Amino acid sequence: MKKRVRVWVGVIAFALAFPAFAGNEANPDAIELAPLPMPVEFKSDMDKPVAFDASATVTVDCPDAEAVTWLKRHFTEWYGDQAPKVTSGSTGLLSTLNSQPSTSDESYSVSADASGVQIAANTLAGVRWAVYTMRQLAIAKRGTFRTEGRILPSFKVTDRPHLAFRAIHLCWFPEVRSQQMERAIRLAALLKFNYAIIEPWGMYASEKHPWWHWPNPTMTKAEVRRLVAIGRDLGITLIPQINAFGHASSARSCTMKHAMIDLQPAYEPLFEPGGWNWCLSNPETQRVLRELIVEMHDDFGRPPFFHLGCDEAQPPSCPECRKTPYAELVCKHITGLAEFVKQRGARAMIWHDMLLERGDPRWKGYVHHGTKTTAALADTLPKDVIICDWQYSYGNMKETRKDWPTMAYFKEKGFPVAGCPWMNYNAMKPMADYIAKIGGFGFIETTWHHLRGGDWVQMYKFASAAAWGTAIPPRTSMYDTAFGTAMRLVGHDMKVTDYLDTGHLNYQVPPGWWVDNN
Ligand SMILES: [Zn+2]
Repeated sequence: MKKRVRVWVGVIAFALAFPAFAGNEANPDAIELAPLPMPVEFKSDMDKPVAFDASATVTVDCPDAEAVTWLKRHFTEWYGDQAPKVTSGSTGLLSTLNSQPSTSDESYSVSADASGVQIAANTLAGVRWAVYTMRQLAIAKRGTFRTEGRILPSFKVTDRPHLAFRAIHLCWFPEVRSQQMERAIRLAALLKFNYAIIEPWGMYASEKHPWWHWPNPTMTKAEVRRLVAIGRDLGITLIPQINAFGHASSARSCTMKHAMIDLQPAYEPLFEPGGWNWCLSNPETQRVLRELIVEMHDDFGRPPFFHLGCDEAQPPSCPECRKTPYAELVCKHITGLAEFVKQRGARAMIWHDMLLERGDPRWKGYVHHGTKTTAALADTLPKDVIICDWQYSYGNMKETRKDWPTMAYFKEKGFPVAGCPWMNYNAMKPMADYIAKIGGFGFIETTWHHLRGGDWVQMYKFASAAAWGTAIPPRTSMYDTAFGTAMRLVGHDMKVTDYLDTGHLNYQVPPGWWVDNN
């Protein structure tokens, strides 16, 4: 039977996307499964399924022997006695992969057809991404009551990340269950993000400073260390964050909550009046922040980055901070912490907005919250501090931009710069492309208080695709098979048993719905 060739190439995504899902002659409605993010090159054919069970052998062509060990362990975890065998061997795919000019340490190829399943990658990282692609395409064998092994479509993939640093920024609010944080981290890894920045929002259970959190914090040392270990195994490095300048309340400003001084007024001297900024002239502030950095950095397994926040700060009002030009005070404060972080083998990251003056016409239409004095930090801060430039296209999240002059500005100043979108989905790929074009540092998808429902789905899908340099595949139906599958795999890995830990919302119907509302 003659069939259409199904090809999906990321570079010309939409031009070729629809033929990829156009079915076959017997059933024109049939669709092909697609992984997230869509690989750079992807061909798939479910009319020629390939065995992916105990009878199958997956050949791994990778110079790192650890890759085979890792894969065997995870196949057993995922598939039990139905796990395919894993063997190390030369496939020919690796030389093809390495002959491509844009190949990287994380590039990979997979081939699955009647002759078997083969993976090629230069590193364990590449093998992980290969397997995550494959895992999303595997389905249960047909025609039985219970799963008796799996099948894959015949498929070929060649893939490489667009940007080397691809992070998701996750907020551990009091309202966010730790299971949700684990799901978000595991799902980010499955969608091939390699870093997750964790902002505690008053939930980190510091032993040194137990006043620095809400009562009953769930981000305990044991939980952090457990999640860090899971992340390390799955290929995603967790990065701690402390808001070391503004946002010192560890609570959303619109709520007027303050994780520290609402319940413990004794710690008021550490903060500016009102509590939004740390009091930078108080030497105790540096001591406390350094001690918190040590504790958190150790709990996170001493990762190579530490995020110091520093967004949306206010001008000072206390009598001591008023004595010195604020730019000097802020610069000394951030530089001191950045140096301290560096001594621990990590690089500091900060948000960008205080480094751009509010009235500067160059930044009209872009996020910029600084004053003339704080904008001077762009000339005085150490140039190895990574500037995380968050641009959300406020006012119209549908807006598509191609250029980000603020990012170019920080790059020209000599800083590594990361592009950080939120829910401005149309801007994500152009932003990742722009960062690649100017030789920027990376891409950080922020999620804030929207890590639920359709927003969660869209943020992860669009951002992972942008960071891998591809567009998202067109939706084939109302039901999002690819994302639902990925989310379910995470649930299986966590062995979830609670209704709340399934899907992208805790509830299908608001529980209050069933309360008398006469
Ligand atoms: Zn002060």
